[in-house]
Formats: sequence, C-alpha cells, structure tokens
Amino acid sequence: MPIYEYECAGCGGIFEVILDVGGPSPSCPNCGGEACRKLIGAPAVHVKRDHATGRIEKRVRDYLVDGKVKDAVRFADKAASMVKSDRVKQIADKLHQKSGK
Ligand SMILES: [Zn+2]
Repeated sequence: MPIYEYECAGCGGIFEVILDVGGPSPSCPNCGGEACRKLIGAPAVHVKRDHATGRIEKRVRDYLVDGKVKDAVRFADKAASMVKSDRVKQIADKLHQKSGK
C-alpha cells in the first residue's frame, strides 16, 4: 500500500499515512487537525529515505507531542547540522517559524 506524506496546516507537523484508496483523509497525529495537505512527491515508498531522517522526524514529533517546542527546535538544529538532508533542514526551519524565532 502506498505511503503518503502529509503536512498539517494546524501544527506544521509532517507525518506519513498509509492510505486506503478511497479512504478518508487522515488527521494529524500531533494535534488531531484535519487540515492536512498531501506533500508533493508522494507516494513516498520509492524514496529510500534514510533511517536517520526518519528517526529525527519521530524524535521531533515526540517533543512536540510533549509540548517541548524548544527542545524540538534545539534537537532539529543539531540534527540539521549533522545530517545533510534538505528534509531535516526543512523540519528545523519549520520549527523555528513555529516557535516564533
Ligand atoms: Zn497538527
């Protein structure tokens, strides 16, 4: 089954969803928002996304779930400096916007 990436308009979180064809739109696992936008390039199955990026995303998400935005920003910055990935950089940028910096 295809995996799609969605971005939540509410909290800016990015998550992956395995979609049933014709199924309902996903809601955000972070904030429960339903204003989610499918990211271009999906399905993501073919993207052999490196595991590091996936772990970073998950970690950031965990921070956000706990409401630790500052920790999430700090972690994402560190991750972005270590992992040369546009994706990670995107996440870090987004967190900066979110935290108002
Ligand atoms: Zn959300």
